[in-house]
Amino acid sequence: MAYIEIRNEFKRYQMGETEIIANNDLSFDVERGQLTVILGPSGAGKSTVLNILGGMDSPTSGQVLVDGTDIAQFSEKQLTAYRRTDVGFVFQFYNLIPNLTTLENVEMATALTPDALDPAETLKAVGLEKRIDNFPAQLSGGEQQRVAIARALAKNPKLLLCDEPTGALDYQTGKSILRLLQEASQNHNTTVIVITHNAEIAKMADRVIHINDAKVRTVEDNDNPLPVE
Ligand code: ADP
Ligand code: ADP
Repeated sequence: MAYIEIRNEFKRYQMGETEIIANNDLSFDVERGQLTVILGPSGAGKSTVLNILGGMDSPTSGQVLVDGTDIAQFSEKQLTAYRRTDVGFVFQFYNLIPNLTTLENVEMATALTPDALDPAETLKAVGLEKRIDNFPAQLSGGEQQRVAIARALAKNPKLLLCDEPTGALDYQTGKSILRLLQEASQNHNTTVIVITHNAEIAKMADRVIHINDAKVRTVEDNDNPLPVE
């Protein structure tokens, strides 16, 4: 069974008289331990489905099976526990806490997580051992995103959700971030989902789900995803 099975998922927003359909009958699978890219233009509905997968939002209808359990049926309390123990998040603009050091930012995220990894070890694994006492403003963009990835990985999540993780970075720095995400899937069996509008990034994925205008248009598997050099 696939790690994630989304079936006939709809998300509608009511804006006064107007109904916005952000996700229109989405169905797709994500395999365990793979790097899956959700590709599509701005406004396509990518963040909506990622937020639903992360337990930050609920669908209007449909099934969202994660390891066989339909999280669309979860209560707020169950969603909170799920976010805490199962999911790591990485965002375009890092979302670090500015008045905490690198190490403290990671410790914040792991404090409530039972199976968390050692924050300092995780920072070392992403190449930031010399930066643990620095504040976010003292780091480059790429370094701040490494902190954000360490913060997510230190929770030892089964699922790592990344919303445009390279969107604010130059090409080379973005590649080094993608390499970390590819390693997380290949070496640690973490299921990684990356949202992007960049087709270059899609070449590095095991599976590419193309979403446009609120619908899944194509699902393609790469037998030989490009290694990130
Ligand atoms: P993407 O991530 O592909 O850029 P989104 O999932 O953010 O797309 O948005 C899909 C559509 O849903 C857009 O038309 C967006 O304006 C709309 N949308 C997203 N969130 C909300 C919200 N909270 N209220 C109303 N409309 C929303
Ligand atoms: P990039 O252009 O790759 O984003 P920067 O030019 O911002 O990188 O930074 C290059 C190096 O200088 C990085 O290692 C970064 O951590 C360091 N650095 C940048 N700003 C500061 C600062 N205010 N204090 C300490 N180190 C800094």
